[in-house]
Amino acid sequence: MRVFSIGERRYSMATYQEFIQQNEDRDGVRFSWNVWPSSRIEATRMVVPLGCLFTPLKERPDLPPIQYDPVLCTRPTCRAILNPFCQVDYRAKVWACNFCFQRNPFPPQYAAISDQHQPAEIIPQFSTLEYTITRATCHPPVYLIVLDTCMDEEDLQAVKESLQMSLSLLPPNALIGLITYGKMVQVHELGCEGCSKSYVFRGTKDLTAKQIQDMLGLQRGGTTQQQRGPQQQQQQQLPSNRFLQPVHKCDMNLTDLLGELQRDPWPVSQGKRPLRSTGVAMSIAVGLLECTFPNTGARIMLFAGGPCTQGPGMVVDDELKNPIRKHLDIEKDNVKFMKKAMKHYEMLANRAAKNGHVLDIYACALDQTGLHEMKFCPRYTGGHMVMGDSFNTSLFKQTFQRVFAKDAKGEFKMGFGATVETSRELKVSGAIGPCVSLGVKGPSVSDTEMGLGGTSQWKMCGLYPNTTLALFFEVVSQHNAPIPQGGRGYLQFITQYQHSSGQRRVRVTTLARNWADASTNIQHIAAGFDQEAAAVLMARTAVFRAETDDGPDVLRWLDRMLIRLCQKFGDYQKDDPNSFRFSENFSLYPQFMFHLRRSQFLQVFNNSPDETSYYRHMLNVEDLTQSLIMIQPILYAYSFNGTPEPVLLDTSSIQPDRILLMDTFFQIVLYHGETIAQWRKQGYQDQPEYENFKQLLNAPVDDAQEILQTRFPMPRYIDTEHDGSQSRFLLSRVNPSQTHNNMYGWGQDGGAAVLTDDVSLQVFMEHLKKLAVSSSS
Ligand SMILES: [Zn+2]
Repeated sequence: MRVFSIGERRYSMATYQEFIQQNEDRDGVRFSWNVWPSSRIEATRMVVPLGCLFTPLKERPDLPPIQYDPVLCTRPTCRAILNPFCQVDYRAKVWACNFCFQRNPFPPQYAAISDQHQPAEIIPQFSTLEYTITRATCHPPVYLIVLDTCMDEEDLQAVKESLQMSLSLLPPNALIGLITYGKMVQVHELGCEGCSKSYVFRGTKDLTAKQIQDMLGLQRGGTTQQQRGPQQQQQQQLPSNRFLQPVHKCDMNLTDLLGELQRDPWPVSQGKRPLRSTGVAMSIAVGLLECTFPNTGARIMLFAGGPCTQGPGMVVDDELKNPIRKHLDIEKDNVKFMKKAMKHYEMLANRAAKNGHVLDIYACALDQTGLHEMKFCPRYTGGHMVMGDSFNTSLFKQTFQRVFAKDAKGEFKMGFGATVETSRELKVSGAIGPCVSLGVKGPSVSDTEMGLGGTSQWKMCGLYPNTTLALFFEVVSQHNAPIPQGGRGYLQFITQYQHSSGQRRVRVTTLARNWADASTNIQHIAAGFDQEAAAVLMARTAVFRAETDDGPDVLRWLDRMLIRLCQKFGDYQKDDPNSFRFSENFSLYPQFMFHLRRSQFLQVFNNSPDETSYYRHMLNVEDLTQSLIMIQPILYAYSFNGTPEPVLLDTSSIQPDRILLMDTFFQIVLYHGETIAQWRKQGYQDQPEYENFKQLLNAPVDDAQEILQTRFPMPRYIDTEHDGSQSRFLLSRVNPSQTHNNMYGWGQDGGAAVLTDDVSLQVFMEHLKKLAVSSSS
């Protein structure tokens, strides 16, 4: 056991901002409310729900390595894990559970503890701690490539090279397999040297796991695996090993195989799309792993150069004259294949999730590939969704390389097969993020559902340092139940996962926040409002709703919530809009909502359904900082008047003598103002006497490079200028303060408050204030 001799530390928090930041750094958690309303009824009146953004694998290089099992509360209905909020009696060697007050004896190996020698798990700075379960067996991860061969020569060559490169980045003991598809689906045997043998399947007929197992001559991995010792595991030639080989044994063979791989040989006649069997290929991949490696960390990596055009999962037929569905077609229910295809991929996603397998999609094509139909695959399994125009771009190549990025300890930044569990004292109403419900009911599960509810446990098959879940809670205690003065509420998140090294690990995060009686102490609750966390939680909820509800309904709901928040927490006199004031920690929130309503997450008609699915996927998985950039892009200005500075996301920031850099998360846009653009065209930067102009041009390029080189997926880089065709990327996101002054349509829709689209922030705010202070609303 590891004992730390650190005296108790007391933190004095100067501001809530510092408190929030410190908690995020330590626990990877941001709450919408940092003081919890103590009664159920008051909690429902907070408008923004009590929830948090939780990043289970937030990078914590400072955590001590703990090589023993966590100590559990002995009450069978509790099973909470020992944490810094437990009362410890060092003399009696007993700890009292902070969730159920059960007194628990310390296990014998803790005999040496004293208030001078505390185990890490009760030291306040380790409210998040990670245990490595040493007795659990290590499994090397499995990577199964599913490669479309119907793409053009250049793309196929690029993706083959990227895959060959990835072989050198994988751990040598990782298992790897290859499935290729076009009109037919081929499962390649990697076992035999020198001869390439493959099993061929028709791309039109779906197969059950059992049929795949029989046709490939596989036996279930479950029973045989258990009989094997760790040493034999490498040597024994199980039937499954013909398709999934350790990288160190087959990398030469696979490199050759990829090198010799040809485009799909089936002729494609004029006016036709190639026949692509993506649906069957994915089905075979899921079935193969399901038979051979259930409950082991594994990724199926799909590389698709176009839409599935035959068999189960087809999203469009092979007639080029029939275009792939648009948002308008979906709205009119004019979609022939969509629902059936979605059902197919959702079924596969559920099966993969059940087995702990990740489904990644790398889709690169100029037209849509069916990401909209396939979105469940990465969403349910924590897989990557990457969208690009071509595989032969740095966007794809560098993004793919970053999948295999390693941390400072030389370990992959990915985890597998995590379950996230919540315990006490709030009931949990649901989660929104890259997960599936494990359907675990219990006393801490709320009847009210937000997102995936009805459970206290979720499964995340793939997770990374920034993977973030939104969790929502319900206050349990009734209004008449007294709250002890200065009482604290607790929550514990337990994340069990397979580390990239194969180790089983358990990360425990225990959180405490003060209760306050909202009927008498509303100002305490208001002071603990985290507007950034609230904006991201509301954005995730809005997008979750938009997947099933009509777009206008979601906007109306967002508007109503915003108006109610202003009514509840604003300071104003009735019917006097000019008197309206918001305290500082609420002041940015309306602006976040303004940009969210205008964003591509909710205004879908300028994008394809595939693009919408891609954007929404990223908002559903990223952490708070990245999500805020997506909701309200960051704008920097570069000019001769001083150093680069952040400027308002507003048309007034666009000036002739400025270069703007806008980061939307998905795009990095460089916009050259009119004068700058003219100078650039005239080539002043190439003349030695205008060296300073050259430097001005280069400064934002360098800053853009820094973002491009670190973000996953790599953003699209757009270099544009005044009147440039791509300046729309900037113009569609800035507040139209100087172009529109249109007040038409405000609050006129059948009494329901509706804030009309495409007005400026100023007009939006005026109307918001009017509606908030109105005695009739
Ligand atoms: Zn307990």
